[in-house]
Amino acid sequence: MTAIASGLDAAGCRDLPVLRERGQREVFCGLTGIVWLHRRMQDAFFLVVGSRTCAHLIQSAAGVMIFAEPRFGTAILEEKDLAGLADANEELDRVVHELLARRPDIRTLFLVGSCPSEVIKLDLARAAQRLAGQHAPVRILNYSGSGIETTFTQGEDACLATMVPTCPPPTTEAAQLLIVGTIADIVEDQFTRLFETMGLRDVAFFPPRRSTALPAIGPNTKVLLAQPFLGDTLRALEARGATLLPAPFPLGVAGTTAWFEAAAQAFDIAPDRVADALAAPAARARKALERQRTELAGKRIFFFPDSQLEIPLARFLAEECGMVPLEVGTPYLHKEILAAELPRLAGIQLSEGQDVELQLDRCRALAPDLTVCGLGLANPLESEGFATKWSIELVFSPIHGFEQAADLAELFARPLRRRMRLAV
Ligand code: SF4
Repeated sequence: MTAIASGLDAAGCRDLPVLRERGQREVFCGLTGIVWLHRRMQDAFFLVVGSRTCAHLIQSAAGVMIFAEPRFGTAILEEKDLAGLADANEELDRVVHELLARRPDIRTLFLVGSCPSEVIKLDLARAAQRLAGQHAPVRILNYSGSGIETTFTQGEDACLATMVPTCPPPTTEAAQLLIVGTIADIVEDQFTRLFETMGLRDVAFFPPRRSTALPAIGPNTKVLLAQPFLGDTLRALEARGATLLPAPFPLGVAGTTAWFEAAAQAFDIAPDRVADALAAPAARARKALERQRTELAGKRIFFFPDSQLEIPLARFLAEECGMVPLEVGTPYLHKEILAAELPRLAGIQLSEGQDVELQLDRCRALAPDLTVCGLGLANPLESEGFATKWSIELVFSPIHGFEQAADLAELFARPLRRRMRLAV
């Protein structure tokens, strides 16, 4: 079913309707989030309770680690479990017991649900509670990474949302800035230095590098999102009294500048001090972007809905690289989270949800220079002569902040260059 809805009527900030589609979708499941979450929280283990398909997906997405002990695994539900012939809870308890006995370095164990565990209605919340009682002080939490009606970045959202209730209450009345969403460690270090230069020292990052170093959350917590796909996490934080600072996302020079300015304004930092702190890295980033801008300017780009990063990416590519977005598809259009982004895409066709065949028809008719899509669509489109960019790569790569702006643009310039070489 396809419906044309009335777009951003309440905001009144756009002059094109949002195309809302519900039909067949081509997206990865939330298990994919384990790839970047396990790199971020180095003392956590992600135990997928799923099938051999789930195990293959996560192994091929994360690559095989040869020298290090992996920090993710799959408790495989066999056919007898799926048929209800075995007590899957007993099996799970045994696997967890063996794992924790062998790996005393694990501080938090996530039981990650999948399509099969949901189909047989295995209650992982209850399992996590039961096992936490047996294995304290290891924290045992659960969330769903199932691909039923979800998209791949929702795995991180579900993981963070389940962690929020375990965060302690604040011990002081002082306001604290909380950056929410996984970013690369190198980006966290850069952001911390810039916040310090601006005079903001009490900044916490969530998820933290150590899963037990949880930030305090309460009414004085001001949340600045680093990723746009964290609707459930935001709701959980707001339920604890935290408030969202509206800002564009820190992608590109303009987005990063506005993101820091939003934090500074909330903490009454003088605008001069902010401008001084940001001037040099912003100038460096603008200079570094020049080469890619020359290659990308005027190129037409089409986004299939996948990562939920599409809207801030399209804003960056249009404003700072001169690209022409033809259609910007996103799995979900979260108006509150994207409030500072959407007015900057005025006049550009947005779509929410997917009916993949209809969207492929639109894409073919528009013949973009570059198409951003999931892996399932990339190969067929490449074989039809379209240059494509895998959206999943944008979540696996450090793309936030000033120092990464040119690298982000490069991720879009490279497939265009490759296509030109093939065409010669
Ligand atoms: S969770 Fe579902 S979609 Fe994901 S790999 Fe397992 S079966 Fe496939």
